[in-house]
Amino acid sequence: MKFPVNHDIHCHTRLSLCSQDPGMTPESILRFAQDKGYDCLCLTDHFWDEDLPDPNEFYAAQGLDHVRQSLPLPATDKLRFLFGCETEYCGGSRLALSPRHYDRFDFIVVPLNHFHMSGLTRDPSIRTAPALAELLLTRLEELTRLDLPFEKVGLAHLNCSLVFRDGDWHQVMRLLDETRLRRCFAFYAKAGAGIELNASCFAPGWTDFEEENLRVFRLAKEEGCRFYCGSDAHHPQALPTVQEWLPLVAEKLGLRAQDRYQIPER
Ligand SMILES: [Zn+2]
Ligand SMILES: [Zn+2]
Repeated sequence: MKFPVNHDIHCHTRLSLCSQDPGMTPESILRFAQDKGYDCLCLTDHFWDEDLPDPNEFYAAQGLDHVRQSLPLPATDKLRFLFGCETEYCGGSRLALSPRHYDRFDFIVVPLNHFHMSGLTRDPSIRTAPALAELLLTRLEELTRLDLPFEKVGLAHLNCSLVFRDGDWHQVMRLLDETRLRRCFAFYAKAGAGIELNASCFAPGWTDFEEENLRVFRLAKEEGCRFYCGSDAHHPQALPTVQEWLPLVAEKLGLRAQDRYQIPER
């Protein structure tokens, strides 16, 4: 059976400061998902727990009360409609989600490569491809040591260009050490975490750098990880990109139905 490209479990409502699009409400996103016949939808607005110190301005305004304005989610019997977040990870134990709030979310998207936020997620002195590759690998390793509910954690956009916005991000992807990547993915597979196919990272043209884009996912698959789709939409026009762009990715990776990650039932 083919890998089902019929869900979107990483998308942003107007509550995310980088959206603020009045067209992105829980109701409108749900309507889209129902029209497309999706079987699962999850809202994942940017989130920084107010329990944790030192957010930047962007995150200070995106605490628990802020993202919970989407609740209660509109009722539907057509699909699973869930509430999650995209938190932040700054290395070590610095995950922007306090353990006491894990159960507030059905799903926790963790980005490991938001390295454009110099000074928050990355020391400003780390700014060459080899150093950024080392940093991304270190983050992948460090996260495994946290006491997280991994079965409801998704690793966001591993092939995102934000890993090196000011340089050759493809070079970073080439430099990631295979042995260390495999060890991490073996852990995430066993722990039950999901690996994200983020449509915004697979806009037409990505096949010019096919190996750089797919390498991490091929290794993740070989180590037994499961995968999910996310539009990462901040605006309505990005919602269809899941079905426009991700079938090709799933095909090139040879994903099957059994390779799909699903958010656990509560
Ligand atoms: Zn992100
Ligand atoms: Zn996002």
